[in-house]
Amino acid sequence: MRKISILGATGSIGTQTLEVLRFHKGEFELLGISAHKSVDKVIGIVKEFSPKVVAITEKEAYEELKNRLIKEGLSCNLVFGMEGLKKVASLDEVDMVVTSVVGMIGLEPTLEAIRHKKDIALANKETLVVAGELIMREAKNFGVKILPVDSEHSAIYQCLQGNENNKISKVILTASGGPFRGKNLEFLKSVKVGDALKHPKWTMGAKISIDSSTLMNKGLEVIEAHFLFNCDYDNIQVVVHPQSIIHSMVEYTDGSVIAQLGTTDMRLAIQYALNYKERKGNVAGNLDFYKLKELTFEEPDFKTFKCLALAYKAGKIGKLLPAIMNGANEACVDLFLNEKIRYLDIVNTIEECMENFDYNKEVTLENVINIDKEVRKFVYSKWS
Ligand code: NDP
Ligand code: MG
Repeated sequence: MRKISILGATGSIGTQTLEVLRFHKGEFELLGISAHKSVDKVIGIVKEFSPKVVAITEKEAYEELKNRLIKEGLSCNLVFGMEGLKKVASLDEVDMVVTSVVGMIGLEPTLEAIRHKKDIALANKETLVVAGELIMREAKNFGVKILPVDSEHSAIYQCLQGNENNKISKVILTASGGPFRGKNLEFLKSVKVGDALKHPKWTMGAKISIDSSTLMNKGLEVIEAHFLFNCDYDNIQVVVHPQSIIHSMVEYTDGSVIAQLGTTDMRLAIQYALNYKERKGNVAGNLDFYKLKELTFEEPDFKTFKCLALAYKAGKIGKLLPAIMNGANEACVDLFLNEKIRYLDIVNTIEECMENFDYNKEVTLENVINIDKEVRKFVYSKWS
């Protein structure tokens, strides 16, 4: 039986990972989970899966959960904060850690898991964006597999299987285009939170939904692909594919393109990572090609959705620039979700941070954490 921990068990990916565990009943044991503040959801998970360790990162929720566990007669080791996340990430018996917290808060626990030789099922793309060099180096040093959960990267990973000795000419990341595909800057000026949260194809957490609408999500994925597949930025192409049926593709030097297709369902990628290398079960159903009328492709609009262009720039320059971009984005998305800034303030503030912060330092844990703090401080004080 594979033993796993889930960081961010109460979120969109966390919840779908639990569905995959239910589907594959008896094949996995859930030993550790984390959540930020969703006490009711944690109680439900503890009742159903009996994890040994639960980490909570919000103080009030921690106190509340402590009382609820006693009241409901449930027993588990309740731990708090970053130390708690690290504990869940490094439990002795765990084989694999699913990293599905949102944001670069996932960096330290992911490193901790790698250093304890746990394979990683990686949904938390921000971690690779801010410190890809460090994560991939440590994964290599500790002989750990990083299995992508992001659907595009899972697709590419699958397209690479069996081709270890063949050279690729490019990876092609598909993008749905988000809710504002085809719109212009004039339209984007008056976008409201509710509009940006309505993704046409995927139901996801709030932060990644906003990222998908600005195309920052695709930008983060370009950097993620660079590190996961050791691929030059010039060989990573984004193609808008509104139907989201082709999850991504790999082009080999002979001109052949291998694509991975499937239902628009994250459980497909989660199931693949959890069962790797076996293909087992069918949690997400089958495609019906008689019903798929068309698959279409477009070039992304880099001018209107400048976040994508900024991400290529950050990735190509490297060093701490991706961390600066990511920190500014996380802070801006939070401000936008709380209606403190307008939609286009997101991209403009990110660009301002990328122009003004000094990125010219080595990608170490300390440098990444420090620059992230500074950038967030700047963004929050700018808009306070
Ligand atoms: P959600 O917002 O739905 O869930 C986030 C999870 O992280 C929750 O368990 C939440 O706990 C926890 N969390 C929130 N803030 C903190 C914090 N400050 N410290 C520790 N834990 C925290 O996000 P998603 O599931 O949508 O996304 C998770 C990650 O997966 C992101 O990196 C995203 O980019 C990536 N991803 C998501 C996809 C999707 O379809 N949703 C697809 C591909 C990648 P609580 O519930 O208690 O607040
Ligand atoms: Mg994705």
